[in-house]
Amino acid sequence: MPGSPLVIDVAVPSPLRQSFDYYAPPGYDNTALSPGMRVTVPFGRAKVVGIILNVMTMSRIAPERIKPALDVLDQQPLLPADILKLLHWASSYYHYPVGEVVLSALPALLRQGGAAQAHGVTRWRLTATGLAARPESLLRAPRQAALLGLLQAQVEGLSSNQLSAGNWRPVLHKLIEKGWVEGRQTPCLTASTNRVGEADSEASLELNAHQQQAVEAVAAALGSFQAFVLDGVTGSGKTEVYLRLIERVIADGRQALVLVPEIGLTPQLVQRFQQRFQVPVAVLHSSLNDQERLCAWLMARDGSAPIVLGTRSAVFTPLKRPGIFIIDEEHDLSFKQQDGFRYHARDVAVWRAQQAQVPIVLGSATPALESLHNVQQCRYQRLVLPQRAGSAQAPSVSMRDVRHQVLEGGLSTSLLVTMQQHLDKGEQVLLFLNRRGYAPSLICHDCGWLAVCSRCDARMVFYQQQRHLLRCHHCGAQRPLTPQCPDCAGSNLRPLGQGTERVEQVLAQRFPHTGRVRIDRDSTRRKGAMQAMLDGVHDGRSQILIGTQMLAKGHHLPNVTLVGILDADQGLFGMDFRSPERMAQLIVQVTGRAGRSDKPGQVFIQTRHPDHPLLRTLLSKGYAAFAQAALDERRLAELPPYSCMALLRATAVAPAPPQAFLNQARALGLAANRQTLQLLGPVAAPMERRAGRYRAQLLVQAAHRTELQRFLSNWIPQLEGLKMGRKVRWSIDVDPMEMG
Ligand code: ADP
Ligand code: ZN
Ligand code: ZN
Repeated sequence: MPGSPLVIDVAVPSPLRQSFDYYAPPGYDNTALSPGMRVTVPFGRAKVVGIILNVMTMSRIAPERIKPALDVLDQQPLLPADILKLLHWASSYYHYPVGEVVLSALPALLRQGGAAQAHGVTRWRLTATGLAARPESLLRAPRQAALLGLLQAQVEGLSSNQLSAGNWRPVLHKLIEKGWVEGRQTPCLTASTNRVGEADSEASLELNAHQQQAVEAVAAALGSFQAFVLDGVTGSGKTEVYLRLIERVIADGRQALVLVPEIGLTPQLVQRFQQRFQVPVAVLHSSLNDQERLCAWLMARDGSAPIVLGTRSAVFTPLKRPGIFIIDEEHDLSFKQQDGFRYHARDVAVWRAQQAQVPIVLGSATPALESLHNVQQCRYQRLVLPQRAGSAQAPSVSMRDVRHQVLEGGLSTSLLVTMQQHLDKGEQVLLFLNRRGYAPSLICHDCGWLAVCSRCDARMVFYQQQRHLLRCHHCGAQRPLTPQCPDCAGSNLRPLGQGTERVEQVLAQRFPHTGRVRIDRDSTRRKGAMQAMLDGVHDGRSQILIGTQMLAKGHHLPNVTLVGILDADQGLFGMDFRSPERMAQLIVQVTGRAGRSDKPGQVFIQTRHPDHPLLRTLLSKGYAAFAQAALDERRLAELPPYSCMALLRATAVAPAPPQAFLNQARALGLAANRQTLQLLGPVAAPMERRAGRYRAQLLVQAAHRTELQRFLSNWIPQLEGLKMGRKVRWSIDVDPMEMG
């Protein structure tokens, strides 16, 4: 219809699974409007920022129901077409509202309507007088002298953030008053800001034959799509393979997107990337402030950051010229978002690599069974690094049956003796126990009362170091410990079992003169704490490390020669069909921390189930054999990757509504489904009550992805129509990674 106003299809932040039509604001024609631009629109009673998905001449709805948009915020699309398409696909594959998906891909400042422009960063550097000043002249002000020294070593100057981190602010002002230091605006991210405090860049190593083959295979695929599983034992030099590939990609004027599990846990990896290349590295992680995030995002988008390194959500970062995608530790659970928009960043990245026609490398010493299955189906190509790089040898592993043994805080006598031998040689020992706190429960020795959480079906964890506290790891509730049992008033309350705090205490008694450090979520909460602890390990102050799975993540600790796994049985009897896979991955990753340089490593695994077939296969034949056995089991049981799942979860403050809602959902599903698809449940979640809410779930299982998707597309709109749905909170999880 000529003359009728343009209609735009807009994604707005809303839990509704649809986008909305608006008229273009007056004065805008289709030459001024494109998908990917932000607009402000009236939505309900509010004015919100949305993203144009489509520009059309006709609407799907009646003209009188369409409102005009208020304003257009961008002259150019903020989100490029390929990212819009990716987000659209992800929204429909994971069945999550398109508005939430599209808007969550933007940095907060842009989501709020801010300009797509990054402010520079103020950097502080010495003036000519400051450069000439001698630290000795500040004998009575040692902090000032120290900062002066730091700035003299750092011609580029230090950013406000760096100064705050070292608590230099008060001292800085003294030097500014003296006229020795001045502030200067610089771009928000430069190559040199990467390298503060690091004298020279890292040289590349000479690749061994296996690394060389891997690099060549991937390099041959540059410019087209191919997925690779880089299956390299711990310490085999996977990072070096990534770095070589990135070098080629950058030389070709393209960008590399690297996803890692948790940047805070692996500061070493980030440093290696920053030191190898003289280019800006955009690092995207959760502790950036809004300005820093905007800066990194914009530099990725306009191509001025050749390397983009980030956690899960970085998979949606726009790239001007993508050249390669790399997922490090691809088996890691953190790539799956477990709430809200429940996507799997590895799977999204593979789709995106195909879209961008670039190779993708999935690296791990313990590839996910899904990835190995894709190799067997010839969808992914496997590249193997079978040996440790350089001179390091694989550690020797021994399993110790600790039944009938006297344990001291979970440590057997033979482990204590072995520890002493390694410590005497000046080597380091790492102890792994995947349980934080002092003890996983507290029991009354008189009447058997157990401390439980009032809001969850779970025991409270006992903490001793923090003023004798009970804390729930599921809802965060905590309460002080009373000296008496609430049931029998007896005063015989005792911690039951061990956590890392308790092991630390035993170590303090057994090895009073040996430096030790405990690394878990509790001890590393403070920003920079992890780095400080690792520094202590590297410079030898801490000879014993005790920690949880945080220690399993890619750390390179060359002087650790003994690894003790205090309790290998934890994962053997888990509720989830993935428990054995997770446990095997943890054991292999922790084992891989031993003997990573020229000194041989030893691994000591304590178990009460030395005959468990899975442990035996893993320890005698290795991860590949274990994985094959586990895959065979999955095939027989028709579990993923030999089938596809979606989990419908519902929660409420009473137990009945979730069950009622899921029963109705099941009935709708059965009516619609004439295929081989199965609906299992509803059942209560493994932990039925959490944070005061009752949880139940219904599992959908299908032989094929397309079948599952077709079913969900019909079923979910029907679920939205259920009245019962308003009495519960419900969500759908496609390809769930946790069955609880
Ligand atoms: P991965 O990521 O596979 O666990 P890394 O990439 O961290 O292993 O490498 C482990 C160690 O081996 C590092 O110290 C690294 O510098 C070293 N390394 C890697 N490749 C080589 C090589 N070709 N020659 C010598 N040392 C190497
Ligand atoms: Zn009691
Ligand atoms: Zn709780």
